[in-house]
Amino acid sequence: MSTGSYWLETVDDGSPPRPPLDGDARVDVAIVGAGFTGLWTAREVLRRDPAASVLILEAATAGFGASGRNGAWLTASIAVTPGELARRTSPATVRAVTAAMRDTVDQVLRAADEDGIDAQARRGGVLRIARGVHELPSMERNHATLQRLGIADGLEVLDATELGARVRVDDARGAILDPHGAAIHPGRLVRGLARRVEDLGARIVEHTPAIRIDPAGRGAGTAGPRVVTDRGTVTADAVVLATEAWTSQLPRHRREVLPLYSLIVLTEPISDARWADVGWAGHELLSSHRLTVDYLSRTPDGRILFGGRGAPYHLGSRISPAFDRHGTTHALLRTQVADWFPALSDVAFSHAWGGPIAMPRDWLPSITLDPSTGIGRAVGYTGQGVGTSNLAGRVLADLLVHGDTPFADLPMVGHRPRRWEPEPLRWLGARYVQGAAARLDARAARSGRAPGTRGLAQRLLRH
Ligand SMILES: Cc1cc2nc3c(=O)[nH]c(=O)nc-3n(C[C@H](O)[C@H](O)[C@H](O)COP(=O)(O)OP(=O)(O)OC[C@H]3O[C@@H](n4cnc5c(N)ncnc54)[C@H](O)[C@@H]3O)c2cc1C
Repeated sequence: MSTGSYWLETVDDGSPPRPPLDGDARVDVAIVGAGFTGLWTAREVLRRDPAASVLILEAATAGFGASGRNGAWLTASIAVTPGELARRTSPATVRAVTAAMRDTVDQVLRAADEDGIDAQARRGGVLRIARGVHELPSMERNHATLQRLGIADGLEVLDATELGARVRVDDARGAILDPHGAAIHPGRLVRGLARRVEDLGARIVEHTPAIRIDPAGRGAGTAGPRVVTDRGTVTADAVVLATEAWTSQLPRHRREVLPLYSLIVLTEPISDARWADVGWAGHELLSSHRLTVDYLSRTPDGRILFGGRGAPYHLGSRISPAFDRHGTTHALLRTQVADWFPALSDVAFSHAWGGPIAMPRDWLPSITLDPSTGIGRAVGYTGQGVGTSNLAGRVLADLLVHGDTPFADLPMVGHRPRRWEPEPLRWLGARYVQGAAARLDARAARSGRAPGTRGLAQRLLRH
């Protein structure tokens, strides 16, 4: 099943397809899902306990999910903004999360190096650009919050001229440069990790969807948790759920996260002469300050990746390969490339794809291991899982192997968000917020005035 992702198309890993599960099995750790979360967890468990038996069950192929389809942003961000996280917890907690996440960017790059994975990383940082005067207040507010919380160190505020020396974006008024970020080739990273964990002794079975996960103590003659598939049942000391958006499709887990589609368009390679008009030699990750998420990266072979949210949420949290493409949203993303870079208004596009991200009710990921059920999980990255999944893998491995983790005080660890509302309330709420964000962005762009911060939609979007 092709996802249409350029990253999976250009992996060149030559690894043969892996066979499915071939009957019942008994292991120490069973992991459901072979994306970044499942693979980092396996890697870290086996580094801590090389003798552990680890089995990863994947419904499709390794990297098939968001890990093989994303915007290439390896950053230190989580979806809950520092200001909102400080309101919910404390400034000290925000500083601890920031330190852990900044270190995570280094950890990912170091692990790829150690494991001999060429993830084609370019460490250019993140440029959050105010496009239009109406985006300046949001940029200034964000920076003031980071200063107040004591996490603005290393960040630079660029005026329009300084920004233009790096990248020439239409109507750019300034930017915040955060050095803690790298553009990576996620396909190479995820497939490289899959090979690496096999070298460490893990077994990956593909085309083996888990139908159900039974907590410890349930089911005939076994004390451990079990993963039930139509090719056999796996009994384990612990089962780790690493299914991100697909968690919403599993019995007993349906209202834990809301699957929302993020979509991407990719240009053909752009000639060096045309790149000279644009700049962007530093391969920084780019986004604006508007409410509807946008994200850009420059690929190693000189293409522009433009991603954004805005594709409609599907009633009942449905996920389908058909939703990976949405004509209206993809067309809008293509016009956005010309809007950002008028010099490239005639550039051709080669790819359009997408995939579901997982939003918990409070946008905060949860990394948990429940000793009473034997089930661990790391889900709910809200579109920011490339870095966070590595931290999650380390935390889960600590908990599985040592029963404790130095990250126990981070708000994501042991976190249990409240569940989403039943349908049709969930659909009504999601569609309202999506529509309101788009309308507020459009009004701000038209009027040149920043959207207020007090409306219902703004409050719902304040994360
Ligand atoms: C279009 C898009 C762009 C994004 N851009 C960025 C970005 O630039 N930066 C960033 O930080 N984050 C980004 N994200 C989010 C990020 O990619 C994810 O948070 C991260 O990859 C999640 O990794 P994961 O391993 O938890 O989940 P996934 O990679 O989604 O893996 C889950 C795996 O579980 C498998 N699975 C599902 N159900 C079952 C089952 N029943 N049995 C067995 N296996 C199952 C799936 O096939 C899949 O392979 C983006 C996401 C999307 C969709």
